[in-house]
Amino acid sequence: MKISHLLKDIKRSISFEFFPPKTEEGEKALFETIKELEYINPTFVSVTYGAGGSTRERTIRVVKKIHRETSLTVMAHQTCIGHTKSQIEEILSEYKNEGVQNILALRGDIPQGQEESFVFPPDGCRYASELVEFIRNRFGDWFSIGVAAYPEGHPESPDLETDIYYFKKKVDAGAEFAITQMFFDNRYFYHFMELVEKAGIKIPVIPGIMPVTNFKQIKKFADMCGATIPKQLIEKLQPVADRPEEVEKIGIEFAVKQCEDLLKNGVKGLHFYTLNKSRATIKIYEAVKALI
Ligand code: FAD
Repeated sequence: MKISHLLKDIKRSISFEFFPPKTEEGEKALFETIKELEYINPTFVSVTYGAGGSTRERTIRVVKKIHRETSLTVMAHQTCIGHTKSQIEEILSEYKNEGVQNILALRGDIPQGQEESFVFPPDGCRYASELVEFIRNRFGDWFSIGVAAYPEGHPESPDLETDIYYFKKKVDAGAEFAITQMFFDNRYFYHFMELVEKAGIKIPVIPGIMPVTNFKQIKKFADMCGATIPKQLIEKLQPVADRPEEVEKIGIEFAVKQCEDLLKNGVKGLHFYTLNKSRATIKIYEAVKALI
């Protein structure tokens, strides 16, 4: 099923993001997690792709396995950085042959330390908007295409307005929905949505929710992607940073409040960054499901 069609048919979507595990054991654990989450009947699930192709085989394998062996609608993330167009076409043809119809089209991060020197392949796509255009040219309407959006602005962008200008380019090229980078303060999302509306962008923008279960890890992720962790949350987490159960409890309580507020303000859905674990996501879902 195409996600764009599903989003038209339902009031709100619930979706889960997974990464392709490195080991067989990790893959078994992922499919256990998927089984545990399946009762929620998510609108779709997605599988990330290592920038530069580092998880190419694993992403394809996990996407195909979800498509074949579960009842879930699956979306493959696809980055273009470090790939030629023919490599991208090869991967997407594999999905098409399998019947997979959803792609999250991304540029991918420039490898650390190469921000100035990185050379984009001349026969590749420089930005996600070019990737969206390429997919539409080669595959027509076969794929429903999603893209990334950044309520606090993309780290490379000089300001939010510039970033939204380029977000619109992705929409004009054929993107049908967007999923946001994680954020912890809903005011960033509401402000972003005001600017998105002003820019004439009409596609659904689904907020990305990261349940905090590990303080060190979340600080690292937030630093990397430029997400602000509110001072009050840091003050609660810091004293218990070495007590994982307490961190998770605080993280879940925080995410429940965040999701309640988003749902009351009419968001189209919630996309959970699960990190391949089900417990926190299930607790948050159970606490807010009456509002969905
Ligand atoms: P783009 O939309 O191309 O934007 C990149 C930067 O370039 C932005 O600053 C933008 O403002 C600017 N820009 C865009 N077009 C132009 C132009 N024509 N001229 C000048 N500047 C321009 N990464 C992975 O490696 N694998 C994943 O699976 C993955 N999944 C993700 C899922 C979600 C929901 C999100 C939000 C991010 C994900 N990422 C993933 C991270 C993403 O790859 C990085 O944030 C990356 O740095 C930017 O990708 P993009 O698709 O947003 O790029």
